[in-house]
Amino acid sequence: MAMGERDDRSYFDKPHDDSVTPADLKVKLSEQRLYIDWKDGARSEFALAELRRVCPCATCRTERESQGANPLRILRADPTGVRVVSAQLVGTYAIQFQWSDGHNTGIFDFRFLRHLHQAAEPKGVESRGQGAPGAGGAGGHPPTP
Ligand SMILES: [Zn+2]
Repeated sequence: MAMGERDDRSYFDKPHDDSVTPADLKVKLSEQRLYIDWKDGARSEFALAELRRVCPCATCRTERESQGANPLRILRADPTGVRVVSAQLVGTYAIQFQWSDGHNTGIFDFRFLRHLHQAAEPKGVESRGQGAPGAGGAGGHPPTP
């Protein structure tokens, strides 16, 4: 009943809405990037290599979890050498990639991608004090009269 207790899994609970519905979905194999225009007007851009790193399939999750517990890393494939070779929609809710190393079990739910987009959002260099102009003074030089 309490809303906003935990925010981190709220995207799983949300009903289908415009913020998780792609209006336009482009996979540029030459750039190895995914571009999404969401129906609510937001745009997302992902490097496919980054998506591979957060691949939600059981195999990759297990691999990442075991890496967390064990400092020894055995890299199965050179991550820079793995490319997406094709992609397909899974129903209306997800996209699935075929990787050059044969991996294809990762299904990227649009809610997951939108969540990633929001997680990666802070890219501005602006300080968060931006909303309060003048407050606190910016640097000790008094304005010349
Ligand atoms: Zn995977």
